[in-house]
Amino acid sequence: AELKNEDLKDMQELGQGNGGSVKKVEHVPSGTIMAKKIVLIDAKPSVRKQILRELQIMHDCSSPYIISFYGAFIADPNICICMEFMDKGSLDGIYKKIGAIDIEVVAMVAWGVLEGLTYLYDVHRIIHRDIKPSNILFNSKGQIKVCDFGVSGELVNSIADTFVGTSTYMSPERIQGAQYTVKSDVWSLGISLIELALGRFPFSDSASDDSDLSDFESTLSPSRPGPLRNLASATKSKSEREKLEKKKKRKSKGVSLQGGGMTMSILELLQHIVNEPAPRLTPEEKFSKEAQDFVDGCLLKNPDLRATPKDLLKHPWIEQARTSAFDLEAWASTF
Ligand code: ADP
Ligand code: MG
Repeated sequence: AELKNEDLKDMQELGQGNGGSVKKVEHVPSGTIMAKKIVLIDAKPSVRKQILRELQIMHDCSSPYIISFYGAFIADPNICICMEFMDKGSLDGIYKKIGAIDIEVVAMVAWGVLEGLTYLYDVHRIIHRDIKPSNILFNSKGQIKVCDFGVSGELVNSIADTFVGTSTYMSPERIQGAQYTVKSDVWSLGISLIELALGRFPFSDSASDDSDLSDFESTLSPSRPGPLRNLASATKSKSEREKLEKKKKRKSKGVSLQGGGMTMSILELLQHIVNEPAPRLTPEEKFSKEAQDFVDGCLLKNPDLRATPKDLLKHPWIEQARTSAFDLEAWASTF
């Protein structure tokens, strides 16, 4: 049967992202609990219909590592996407609640995400494009699943914020305007894994918030006409720089991201990703050689040298996770 907005009863707000908001809802006729993502898009009816058509591919995506899809519809002026509800939320929420995540769990997250990425690419030729802790979900059965993958090119185009919102997990080659490949997702996975294991975003060295960053980004992004192609065009935009300066002045704290006593704007961060050595899983004595080697492999700056998700499924650290006796369901019951 068709999914209709009238059949959905709002239960709870789950979170807000760049493109819209997510609510926990009940599909009353069936009693199914779902997550409803409301995406505000400024697009012509024809484009909206195209987006809906593209989203239908999600009906064919069936994997234990991918969020299931119930359906999508237009509820003017929004597009609503209904998906499987994950009762423990996303991994960013989890580490912000309980602190740095046990490396054994992080290994299982890496394994789950690699399985999800490999499924999407091998079966559907889909590249995720937005791997980050908030798009990795967890439930009380101990399952790890990825969501918000780029099935709809039109949807990606219609959300102008996409670039800025996710730029911090973006690989050096993407920042420089190269084509997106599955290896760009591997970079984003590497950054995400360090973030989970350390309990903080790797490009900042305080355990404190990067909420400043998202605040900053949301002010910055509406001025963008669409996804930026490279850093050169980012640095060129004068109005962008002026906005940035204004924002800096307004905030007593100064800038969005702090690291090593130094503050970084979003453009400086992008430059940093391109020009500086990649972050690592440190301190050395705290993490196994396999874990460090895995993360180093994800964060090779040259995409030609970086492995694909499928290659990485054979990595010793993932082999360990596969055979680990760690009980994720029991772990889920601790928070
Ligand atoms: P972002 O991923 O950038 O945080 P989203 O709009 O995609 O923004 O999601 C907002 C929040 O809603 C996420 O951070 C996540 O915690 C929560 N969320 C999204 N999808 C689900 C889901 N299927 N089940 C439970 N929580 C979800
Ligand atoms: Mg998301």
